[in-house]
Amino acid sequence: MNAPKRIPGHRSLHSPGPTRVPDEVVHAMSRQPMDLADPRLGAVIEACESGLKRLLQTERAQVFMYSANGHGAWEAAIVNLIAPGQTVLVPGTGHFSESWAVQTEALGGRVVRTPCVEGFPIDVDAVEQALRADTRHEIVAVFAVHTDTASGLTSDLRALRAAIDATGHPALFVVDVVASLGAAPFAMDALGANVVIGASQKGLMVPPGLGFVAVDSVAMAVASRNPAPRFYWDWGRRSSDLVYRKFCGTPPQSLLMGLDAALSLIFREGVDEVIARHRLIARAVHAAVACWSEGGALQFFGRVPAARSVSVTTVLVQPGIDPEAMREVARERFQVAIAGGLGPLAGRVFRIGHLGDMNPAMILGCLAGIEAAMTVQGISFGQQGMQQAIACLATG
Ligand SMILES: *Cc1c(COP(=O)(O)O)cnc(C)c1O
Repeated sequence: MNAPKRIPGHRSLHSPGPTRVPDEVVHAMSRQPMDLADPRLGAVIEACESGLKRLLQTERAQVFMYSANGHGAWEAAIVNLIAPGQTVLVPGTGHFSESWAVQTEALGGRVVRTPCVEGFPIDVDAVEQALRADTRHEIVAVFAVHTDTASGLTSDLRALRAAIDATGHPALFVVDVVASLGAAPFAMDALGANVVIGASQKGLMVPPGLGFVAVDSVAMAVASRNPAPRFYWDWGRRSSDLVYRKFCGTPPQSLLMGLDAALSLIFREGVDEVIARHRLIARAVHAAVACWSEGGALQFFGRVPAARSVSVTTVLVQPGIDPEAMREVARERFQVAIAGGLGPLAGRVFRIGHLGDMNPAMILGCLAGIEAAMTVQGISFGQQGMQQAIACLATG
């Protein structure tokens, strides 16, 4: 058999997760494993816990890390907080709120959903109404997705918190920041979130496989009263200084070394600078997409400009255009890997990931690769997109 053809240069990854892994993280992950009593391992774990708390802006929460993806971290929140038959309110954001709701139901929970309107973030008024309608306080928690990676929309968590407070409802506020942490501003304690859920492979620039939750004392108390059977995910069992207890077995050492290195990169750049960089790069993408739309074949999926995410942009294509074929040309011919549509958006959109280890030259290469692929596919688009993106980046 012939060896596969060599492709010079590198393929740019512009999926909204997994994202590119910086060299410093790759190198950190190539270290040898350690024996579980080695204090150096303890120091790596401690650095990950304190670094995540610093990034989440929490002093009061306890961090639990799992050898798991984001779905694993979802499961941790579900089984620790919700007993079979108990109720969760899931505000509709799209594919990710729905997936979390379905997983909750699979584990025996009841789910009240607020409707998701395509192109719009969470309907805060609908959440408030649903909580007011729950006069017997059966809803144990609100499970809210900050940035829905499928829609490319970020919801206003402070408005959501205010709506919960306005009702006086005691439900826990559980927030999924898998796609927004390390990209959009977030402050757990100031927000009043009781549980926050994240994963390694998006804004945190680490390969997939490490999920985590940060849990405040109110949520810990709910968990300790919850009779639902659980073992691996159990926060009580993992509340220990012993490495082997903390991870319910051997910790995922390479991923922890990678996370430690990635958090150091974020703090060296500065959290505010990381957030400003994401905002700028997102503006450049949005400028290009706005311009492309003038060709009539595509448009923003998100209808509320202020809610368009700094992590990922979802682009809706006209019926008759195959975004999957365009993606394949972009990946295979122009070495730009972008994402497709999820759930009900499959075949209707493409998505540009612009989070994590990203700089202006990389995003310009991505946008140009997409233009090249659209040209090959005969998709009409407004021609000034690159210029508009450059203008954004040039003015900062
Ligand atoms: C990616 C993602 C998840 C799921 O993470 P996996 O690691 O794929 O299980 C959950 N929530 C949001 C918002 C995500 O973007």
